[in-house]
Amino acid sequence: MNLMGKSVFGGIAIGKMSVYHKKDSLVKRTKITDTQAEIERFKQARDKAKEQLAGLYAKAVKEVGELNAAIFEVHQMMLDDLDYEESITNIIETQNVNAEFAVANTGDNFAQMFAAMDNDYMKERSADVKDISNRVISILSGAQHGGISGDEPVILLADDLAPSETVQLDKSMILSFVTKFGSTNSHTAILARTMNIPALIGVDITEDMDGKMGIVDGFAGKLIVDPTEEELAKYRAKKNEEDDKKRLLQELKGKENVTLDGRKINLYANIGGVGDVAAVLANDAGGIGLFRSEFLYLESDDYPTEDAQFTAYKTVAENMAGKKVIIRTLDIGADKQVDYFNMDKEENPAMGYRAIRICLDRKEIFKTQLRAIYRASYYGTISIMFPMIISLSEVKQIKEIIAEVKKELTEEGIPFQDCEIGIMIETPAAVMISDILAKEVDFFSIGTNDLTQYTLAIDRQNPKLDSIYDSHHEAILRMLQMVVDNGHKGGAWVGICGELGADTTLTETFLRMGFDELSVSPSMILKVRDVIRNTRLD
Ligand code: PEP
Ligand code: MG
Repeated sequence: MNLMGKSVFGGIAIGKMSVYHKKDSLVKRTKITDTQAEIERFKQARDKAKEQLAGLYAKAVKEVGELNAAIFEVHQMMLDDLDYEESITNIIETQNVNAEFAVANTGDNFAQMFAAMDNDYMKERSADVKDISNRVISILSGAQHGGISGDEPVILLADDLAPSETVQLDKSMILSFVTKFGSTNSHTAILARTMNIPALIGVDITEDMDGKMGIVDGFAGKLIVDPTEEELAKYRAKKNEEDDKKRLLQELKGKENVTLDGRKINLYANIGGVGDVAAVLANDAGGIGLFRSEFLYLESDDYPTEDAQFTAYKTVAENMAGKKVIIRTLDIGADKQVDYFNMDKEENPAMGYRAIRICLDRKEIFKTQLRAIYRASYYGTISIMFPMIISLSEVKQIKEIIAEVKKELTEEGIPFQDCEIGIMIETPAAVMISDILAKEVDFFSIGTNDLTQYTLAIDRQNPKLDSIYDSHHEAILRMLQMVVDNGHKGGAWVGICGELGADTTLTETFLRMGFDELSVSPSMILKVRDVIRNTRLD
C-alpha cells in the first residue's frame, strides 16, 4: 500500500514501523494478587532499563566523549540503589498494586526529596530519578505506549510531535519520522534535518500499521506499507546509492567554502543541544551559528539551574575547540511551550508573549542564562544572540542587563571573556530599522522561518498554508538584501540561520547579496559547500 505525504527531508528509510502515542502521564493504579510475580516483573524491567542505558552510554561515549556520556552511567547506578528498590517492592507488597504505580510513586517521592535538598548537585538528581522511573514504566507498559520501546530502530509514526516530545525520544532508535499533521517549518521537521533522516508529514497513518514493515521515500514523499520483495530490493539499491553519494560528499571535509573565483563564506551549523555537536564535527562545520538554547528548558522539568546551563554551554564551547559558538538566548512561547513557565493561554501565541519579551519581563530567568553563558565564555569562543527583536529599546535594555551580569561576575572573581553580541532579524520591524540596529551590535543573523511567517502573515505551523509559505517571495529577497546592506554599512557582519540558508537553489543569490555566513543543519553543510565550490560569481 502506498500513502502520499509531503517530504520535509529527503532520504530512504527501510524498517519496522511503530506508532507513537502521547505518553499518558497518569499511570493507572490497579490491584494485583500475586505480589511476588509483580516484584519479579519490576526487576526484569529494571534490568532491561539498565541494558538500554549501557547501550546508550557506549553510543554516547563514541559521539560526545566520556564526560558527557557519564549521565547514563549515573542513571544505571541509580537503578541499583537499594532504597529505590525497597521503596518499590514495599509499595507493591503493602498496597497490592501494580509495578507501574509503585515505580511512579517512588519516582515522584524521590524526586521531591532531591528537589528539596540544599545542594545543587543533589537537586539536579531530581530530574534523573524521574527519568529512570519513566524508562522503567515504559518498559513495564511495553507496546501500550508504542514508540520506541523495542531493541531495533524504527520508522516512527505519529499524529504530531511537539518539540518537547521530540527531545525526549531516543534518537538512535529512529530511522524516520512520519506524521499526520505538522508543517514543513515546524521544529520537528528541523530536528529531522539535524538528524539527517528522512521525514514526511501529512500522511494518513493508522493504528494497524504498528509493527509492520515500511519504506519511507523522502524524495517522493511516499510511505510504502508492507512492501513487496520487489519494492524492498529496489529501495535497498536506492538506499545504497544514497549512501554512496553521502560518502562522496565526505571528500569535501577539510576543504574551504570558496567559489571558483575566490569568494569565501562562513558555513556554520544549527544545533538544539550538546548531543548535536558530534554531527557538527562529523560534517566539518566552521562553527555553530545557532544554538537553540530553549531545548535545554524543554528537556527539563523545572527551570534549568545556572550550573546546569553553564555545563552545557561549556561542553559545547570546549568540544568546538575555539571555533565560534553562537548561543541564542531562550526562545520559548509560540509552538515551544514549557509547562513550568505557567504561561497563560493566548489567542495568537506566535505574536504573543515569547522569546526576548519573556526574558525582559522575567529578568531573573534571563540573568541566570546570561551568567551561565558568560561563565562558559572562558572556555571557548562564544557569541550571544537575541531572538524576536523589534526595537532599539530592547537592544539597549539587553545591553544594560549584560553590563550588570559582567559587573557581578567581576565582583565575584569569576573569569569570563567578552562575547560578540548579535540579534536575530526575524521581524519586518527589525528589517526596516536594521540601519539603526547595526550600529548597536556586532552581527545580524536572519531567522527566515519567522521572518517569512511575519512578513507574509502565514502561520508557519499551519499545514494548510504550507503551499503558500514562500520564503522565495520577492518581499523576503528584498528584505535580505536590505539587511546585508544596512548591516555592512553599520559595521555588523550578516548571516542567515533560518532554514532558507540551506536552500541550495539560492546559494549563489546569497553569495551575490554579500552574506558573510550561512548557518544550516549539520546534515546540509557538505551539500552547501559542494554548491559553493561549483559557483562562479564573475
Ligand atoms: C527562524 O525563525 O528562522 C529561526 C532560525 O528560529 P526558530 O526556527 O528557532 O524560530
Ligand atoms: Mg525564529
